[in-house]
Amino acid sequence: MFAVPLIERKRDGGALTPDEWSRLVAEYADGRIPDYQMAALLMAVFFRGLESRELSALTDAMCASGARLAADADGPPRVDKHSTGGVGDKVSLVLAPLVASCGVAVPMMSGRGLGHTGGTLDKLESIPGFRTELPLEAARAQLDRLGCVMMGQTDEVAPADRRLYALRDATATVEAIPLIAASIMSKKLAEGLNGLVLDVKRGSGAFLPEVEDGLALAQTMIGLGEDRGCPTVALVTAMDRPLGRACGNALEVEEAFAALRNEGPDDLMEVVYALGVEMLLLAGQERERAAARATLEGRLGSGAAAQKLGEVIEAQGGNPAIVEDPAVLPEAEFVDVVGAAESGYVVRIEPRVIGRAIVEMGGGRRVKEDGVDAAVGLVITVNPGDRVEQGEPLASLYARDEAGLEVARRALREAVTIGEARAGAGLPLVSHRVSKAGVELLA
Ligand code: URA
Repeated sequence: MFAVPLIERKRDGGALTPDEWSRLVAEYADGRIPDYQMAALLMAVFFRGLESRELSALTDAMCASGARLAADADGPPRVDKHSTGGVGDKVSLVLAPLVASCGVAVPMMSGRGLGHTGGTLDKLESIPGFRTELPLEAARAQLDRLGCVMMGQTDEVAPADRRLYALRDATATVEAIPLIAASIMSKKLAEGLNGLVLDVKRGSGAFLPEVEDGLALAQTMIGLGEDRGCPTVALVTAMDRPLGRACGNALEVEEAFAALRNEGPDDLMEVVYALGVEMLLLAGQERERAAARATLEGRLGSGAAAQKLGEVIEAQGGNPAIVEDPAVLPEAEFVDVVGAAESGYVVRIEPRVIGRAIVEMGGGRRVKEDGVDAAVGLVITVNPGDRVEQGEPLASLYARDEAGLEVARRALREAVTIGEARAGAGLPLVSHRVSKAGVELLA
């Protein structure tokens, strides 16, 4: 296929036909269209957008670029969640085993770090021995046996998204509604789901900071899901500060393990429970929100969710004991604790600055071939609205060398604003619920 005329047409504001989108995606997935042409096309989409016919065709072509997890009519309901990406967002690591422990099948298919945001796959790979590349048959068998699998896109599932995702990460073409929507929905629709819950982030650390854009993205994805027979609901959640305390792959895994032991930070647990309630309702496992929440709290409190994660870790090559004793997670050699330069109230903790620093420290990718250092990151122990006294610890920094510590110190100084006036906590944690029925304001 000769791609140049198609790139030109998109660049000049025209539309490609569904057939052109499916051939482009198929040939790109096969390596017959080079990265530089696809990058140019993505940039044209970034500026020109996609008509809804084009978006449907792109999503379907990306989904059809690989195999699907066959739906299971006789098994438990199958429901998943996906986030549009954030800093410190380790929700999936807690939510997947928690909801699976309630009897719902959760085929959590996740991505790698993207831009300044972290990815569940990179986090999972900080668990020694954990395999995220599972053949589809093995994933299906594990889902039948344990009710939960946590995996990445192999060459079997939505391979076009796998390649496009890495290319977008390296070409500044992430922040576009149609590209995010097609990326997320192509892999989720390949999972044979009975329902999908989306965590759409808003705030300065989100790919789309403005709430109107977040709502438009939510509605776009809900439309794609519902039109394809997958009931889809979205919650809009805050990403104007990192979620929880830990930012960085292994540090986040450790915090997720703590959450499964019922020792998670309040903001993380609030988002986990809100999404979990939606998953149980979609699965038909519960009818009432309060009952769904109580079920989730019960499963967490009894240790059933932690045990489920241990089973998943064991099935995928790791040592399940790590959930109780995370000492074998990778540890950084260089550690520092930074105190507040002055007394006052924490006004802001800018997530994008933290996320970018982690990439610079080696915890994310600058080019798509980069490896990831799982151990680096920051654990920020204050929240917006907190009162701090001069010298009181703000954060612990974890780096692989002195230069990395310096990057983290600089980022912390830039990210954390301390002011004299009492500050609020920021955006409401869960502000909107979006479904095919419309938008509900929650807070
Ligand atoms: N998550 C995805 O899977 N894709 C995106 O484009 C953004 C977040």
